[in-house]
Amino acid sequence: RPRALSGIQPTAGSFHLGNYLGAIRQYVALQETHDAFYMVVDLHAITVPQDPAELRANTRLAAAQLLAAGLDPERCTLFIQSHVPEHAQLGWIMNCLTGFGEASRMTQFKDKSAKQGADRATVGLFTYPILQVADILLYQADAVPVGEDQRQHIELTRDLAERFNGRFGRTFTVPAPHIVKEVAKIYDLQDPTIKMSKSASTPKGLINLLDEPKATAKKVRSAVTDTDTVIRFDSVEKPGISNLLTIYSTLTGTTVTELEQKYEGKGYGALKTDLADVMVEFVTPFRTRTQEYLDDPETLDSILAKGAEKARAVAAETLAAAFDRVGFLPAK
Ligand code: ATP
Ligand code: MG
Repeated sequence: RPRALSGIQPTAGSFHLGNYLGAIRQYVALQETHDAFYMVVDLHAITVPQDPAELRANTRLAAAQLLAAGLDPERCTLFIQSHVPEHAQLGWIMNCLTGFGEASRMTQFKDKSAKQGADRATVGLFTYPILQVADILLYQADAVPVGEDQRQHIELTRDLAERFNGRFGRTFTVPAPHIVKEVAKIYDLQDPTIKMSKSASTPKGLINLLDEPKATAKKVRSAVTDTDTVIRFDSVEKPGISNLLTIYSTLTGTTVTELEQKYEGKGYGALKTDLADVMVEFVTPFRTRTQEYLDDPETLDSILAKGAEKARAVAAETLAAAFDRVGFLPAK
């Protein structure tokens, strides 16, 4: 089976709808076709300041949500990044293969450091894409399910895999991004020209999966659309309606064309009311399942311990090969 690998940050507490539709749904699907590795990336989380107790709680919460979303520890390897020290170790090697200018071109860093104030951004935030390279290459991943915002980092991963292989001999699989076009970028409900993000400008535009379902329904009903009345997919002229159609379509398995027909002659209000119901039906059991995992920390921790063990076996083998290729003297 081909390998899949992806990671998600534990920083915000609740995952948002963009995380779910853009990434986590693909994690679930790829369990069927791939030897899949998924991790909560706590090493990436500390690229911005974290409260230690909160980070620990959010890391558990992230794992619980991934299980609630449908990751099955019998069919994939779910683990916490810091449980596998090889990530940081291969990360160092990758740092030493990356040009300073090359790293400086990463747009995620530019965006995130601009938000923080350039003086406060850490070197860790600057080099996090390079740690991500190591995350992926350690597992010899073929496919990396992510949203559109991660495409540039996967390109960097491919470049570094080829660079290492070219310089030291074939060591790493060159991965490809697994980006599902329709859901690659879910937009903010209040500003449908920017991506939905946990660092959104206004919380009204951000659907957190663990929010009160009533509050979520309200956010959907007050989504920004346009002054036209026709329900039609057109991401340029009608970004708000198109975003709602994408969300509706993906959550229900109905095509956008079918939805356009269903809502022909009806107003935006009808679409929003129905989508609010769809959303409530989706988040309600998700919240319950997440809570069940949180209420049973022993089971959760044992899933994560087994996951780390499986992950380490693979990661250690790759790291040993990389150390050897680079010319490190083996410890006897
Ligand atoms: P940040 O804004 O701090 O980067 P985030 O909201 O992007 O946070 P991440 O943990 O960085 O959350 O992303 C986890 C996964 O979710 C990644 O694969 C990312 O590409 C995907 N993702 C995030 N936001 C969206 C979105 N709006 N639409 C589709 N996919 C998304
Ligand atoms: Mg992101």
